[in-house]
Amino acid sequence: MALMITDECINCDVCEPECPNEAIFLGPEIYQIDPHKCTECVGHFDEPQCVQVCPVACIPKHPGFAEDRETLMQKYLRLTSPSSAPRP
Ligand code: SF4
Ligand code: SF4
Repeated sequence: MALMITDECINCDVCEPECPNEAIFLGPEIYQIDPHKCTECVGHFDEPQCVQVCPVACIPKHPGFAEDRETLMQKYLRLTSPSSAPRP
């Protein structure tokens, strides 16, 4: 599962720098998570870092992105492989 940010977000800015996948960004109104980049922190940390720091607990699992741990690990490997880096 990727995670998602609900409209209870208060734009406190603390989660964005904590994301190891740079999946969190400020949308038109509130912060958002790119589900294609979120691995639930699998590969980086034991717990989702954004959930740990969010003061209003507004980051549930994304119902549209059901992924088991193995799939999340594959996503992590894909995101961190050299071939996925932007070309100069
Ligand atoms: Fe980023 Fe981890 Fe939160 Fe996903 S769970 S958005 S990878 S900090
Ligand atoms: Fe919004 Fe929570 Fe992130 Fe703060 S930590 S910007 S309230 S999602």
